[in-house]
Amino acid sequence: MGKQNLKGVSTITLHTASHENDNFSHTTPIYATSTFTFNSAEEGMDRFKGNDKTRLYSRWGNPTFTAAEQTIEALEARGIHNADGTPLKVKALLHASGQAAMTTLFFSNLSAGDALISHYSLYGGSQELMQKVLSEAGVKIILIDIHDEALLLATLNANPNTKLIHLETPANPTLQCVDIEAICKIAHANGVKVSVDNTVATPYLQQPFALGADFVFHSATKFLNGHGSALHGVLLGKDLDFMHTKVWKWHVLLGGNSNAFDAYLLIQGMKTLELRMEKHCTNANLVANYLQNHPAIAHVNYTGFTTHPHHHIANKQMKQHAPLISFELKGGLEAGKQFINAVEICTRAVSLGTVDTLVSHPASMTHMSIPKLEREKYGITDGLIRMSVGIENIEDLQADLEQALSNASK
Ligand SMILES: *Cc1c(COP(=O)(O)O)cnc(C)c1O
Repeated sequence: MGKQNLKGVSTITLHTASHENDNFSHTTPIYATSTFTFNSAEEGMDRFKGNDKTRLYSRWGNPTFTAAEQTIEALEARGIHNADGTPLKVKALLHASGQAAMTTLFFSNLSAGDALISHYSLYGGSQELMQKVLSEAGVKIILIDIHDEALLLATLNANPNTKLIHLETPANPTLQCVDIEAICKIAHANGVKVSVDNTVATPYLQQPFALGADFVFHSATKFLNGHGSALHGVLLGKDLDFMHTKVWKWHVLLGGNSNAFDAYLLIQGMKTLELRMEKHCTNANLVANYLQNHPAIAHVNYTGFTTHPHHHIANKQMKQHAPLISFELKGGLEAGKQFINAVEICTRAVSLGTVDTLVSHPASMTHMSIPKLEREKYGITDGLIRMSVGIENIEDLQADLEQALSNASK
C-alpha cells in the first residue's frame, strides 16, 4: 500500500521518518553536521540548481530535519483531498522554536503597510511578537472579538491591506475556540489568508487544512515532542510554490533553523503521539469533572463541558476535547498560590503538553507582560490556575489534587 496514504496517526508517526542511511540504523540518524560534501564540482552545481536545497548546509535543511518535517506533513494532511480528488500535499519547515516559526510565518506574509487581524486570548509570546516586533516593522495589528462576524467584516472592509488572519484554537489558557471553517470562508472571500496555531489540539485532535486553513503552526515543544526535552516550531503551508520560494527565503535568511539532536528528539517523541493524546484526553475529562464538583473551586474552563461558551465549536472541529484546563479557586489569588505550593505530584512549571501534569499561574507567569485590565477582559484573572493534564495514573493525580485543594481552602 506504500506510505503515501496512511490513515492512522501511529502508523504515520512510526513509519514516515526516513531510515535512509548507509549503516542500516533502525532509528533516524542524528546528522550532526553543519555542511554536506560534494564528490565533484558538477555534483555541487547540480545540488544548488535542484529543487531540493537540503544536503548543502544545515541552515537550509538536513536529513534529520527532513524526517521530522515529513512526519508532521503526513499528520496534518492525512485523509484530506484536493478538489480534484488527489491527496493534499503540504510542506513543513522545522524551526528552532515556535517563536522562530511564527516569525517566518508573519514576515513571509506581511510587510510595512499591511494589516494582520487576530483575536483576544492568544499565547502571550504570539501577542507580544505581534505588538512589540511586527508593529515596529510597520504592520498594523488588529485584535478583535473574532466571533463577531459583523465586526470581522467591518474590520476587513476598513483595512483593505489585511493579508493574514491568525487564529489560535483552542487558545491557551482560557480554551476559547474559534470556528476555523467559518473564518476561512470570510477571509478567502476577501482575498485574505488564514493561519492556525494548532499547538494545543495537535493534528491528532484537529486538522486545520481540512477546514480551509492556508498555514498551520505548531510549537512542537508541546504535545508533538511530548516529553519537554527540547524546543521546536513548525510552519506548514499548502501553497507549495509559496512555501518553496517566499517562506523558504525568510526561513533560511532569518536563521531560525532547528538542529539535528532536537529534530531526533521530536521524531522519537511523536512516535507515541496517539497513545499519549488518548490518555491525556481521558485524564483531562476525569480531572475536569472532579474539579468542577469540588467545593473549593469557583469555575473550570474545559471545552468538554456544555457550559463552556465554545463547547459547540470544539465539538464541531475537534475529535476530542483538548487536555488543557484552567480553573479559578474560590479563595482567589492567595488560594491559587497555596494550591500551587501544595501539589506534590503535579509539576510546577510553565509550558504544556508534557507527559507529566504541569500547573502554572498565567497572571504571574506566561501572561505577566499583558496589562491586567486587558487580560481580565478575556478571562485571565489573578486567581486562574492552568493545568496541562498528564498521563499519570488517575487515582494518584486525584489524590494529589485532593490534598492540595484541602490545603488551599484552609
Ligand atoms: C509555547 C507556545 C508558543 C511558542 O512556542 P515556543 O516553542 O515556546 O517558541 C506558541 N503558541 C502556543 C499556543 C504555545 O503554547
